Amino acid sequence: MRSSSGDFLLSPELSSLRADVRAFVDERVIPAEDEVLAAFGRGDEAPLRALQDAARAVDLFTPHLPTDLGGRGLGVMGMCALFREMGRSLLGPRAFNCDAPDQGNMDLLLKTASPAVRERWLAPLCRAEITSAFCMTEPAPGAGADPSNLRTTATRDGDDWVIDGHKWFSTGGSLASFLIVMARTSDDPREGASLVVVDRHADGVELLRDVPVMAPDVLQHREGEFRFTGVRVGADAVLGGIGQGFRLAQERLIPARLTHCMRWLGLAERALGMCREYLAERISFGKPLAEHQLIQAMVARNATDIHAGNLMTLHCAWELERSDARTARPFSSMTKNHVAQLLCRVLDDAIQMHGAKGYSDDLPFARWYRTARAARIADGPDEVHTMVVARDFLRGKVDLLA
Ligand SMILES: Cc1cc2nc3c(=O)[nH]c(=O)nc-3n(C[C@H](O)[C@H](O)[C@H](O)COP(=O)(O)OP(=O)(O)OC[C@H]3O[C@@H](n4cnc5c(N)ncnc54)[C@H](O)[C@@H]3O)c2cc1C
Repeated sequence: MRSSSGDFLLSPELSSLRADVRAFVDERVIPAEDEVLAAFGRGDEAPLRALQDAARAVDLFTPHLPTDLGGRGLGVMGMCALFREMGRSLLGPRAFNCDAPDQGNMDLLLKTASPAVRERWLAPLCRAEITSAFCMTEPAPGAGADPSNLRTTATRDGDDWVIDGHKWFSTGGSLASFLIVMARTSDDPREGASLVVVDRHADGVELLRDVPVMAPDVLQHREGEFRFTGVRVGADAVLGGIGQGFRLAQERLIPARLTHCMRWLGLAERALGMCREYLAERISFGKPLAEHQLIQAMVARNATDIHAGNLMTLHCAWELERSDARTARPFSSMTKNHVAQLLCRVLDDAIQMHGAKGYSDDLPFARWYRTARAARIADGPDEVHTMVVARDFLRGKVDLLA
């Protein structure tokens, strides 16, 4: 029998749900990858919609949502179980309507949005009728790795707020219906920022371009650059109250970072599994590649890294369920760094182990690698997470044997 850590710490119900998601990804999502992605690139969303309808029909759509919104009310551990399976395909998260940034945005709106925003934006987002984006990062000298450089402003005018600024790397921004924009509302270092929901097509919202990047387009994942000039929103567009932006962004980003790790683990596991087949078949210097020790060393390192990443992710999910985002923060930084780096290494090694074919677009590794490389930068670069881990550890705030 296959030794499995996939069901580790999961209830029988979650294990069974996980098996259903895995089967759906194997049987429906992976075979449809090329067709759905190519059609989407031509502006034809019908194959994607068909896949989403199929997920809905077997009750696997938006499982992270509360039951009254059509989900299964999964906690973070539950998301771990399912998102790893969905992440085995770049298409998987969107097929189940659990993709970034929408899933993190749904979570944030559920906790903080006014009734008007919930009705206008959250409800259709949960039904996958629209998509969304999160606009925090700005070109230098604005907010990047250090959010305190925030330059975009929201200024009060009567009951409204008026937004001016410049954002980029707003993933999915160009196709989104609404944007969650971080803007400065005062000079207070802790409470000087607010999150505001903006209609993507409102007066004053200008899409400058999709920034050309290393990765190929994968569905809506394009990096929008926006200028906001005198964009007017009502008071009910502010999430969680004025001055809550930095706190809410942290609360959104810590679990969202972990859900990235879950998806990345799925992709790494699939890539390593694909290597196993080639290594068994390909004969070099008189024996299968799988019998060469240098290859075995690569395989063992990657398998160990994925397993460790899986355990780190589960531990951080458990921590998030039982305590608060602040306690989980150093663990989420450790996990994000570990999993982002292992993903890049596993894909790089998969290319290496497949030789020229691995480098070609006959196999998906090169494409996946170009997408995966952003993992070490987006949601905080490696160095910033390293800084957080060291700072919290040196302050005595990390129980390493938790
Ligand atoms: C594909 C992709 C998607 C993204 N999606 C979004 C999105 O949807 N919404 C959004 O708001 N942003 C998004 N981002 C932006 C991302 O969050 C930022 O790129 C990231 O926070 C780093 O900011 P920066 O690019 O401005 O780098 P900078 O702040 O200019 O930093 C440059 C480099 O300096 C180094 N560095 C920075 N600080 C330190 C330090 N303390 N110690 C040592 N070295 C340091 C790091 O190596 C870092 O990569 C995305 C980025 C990418 C690549």
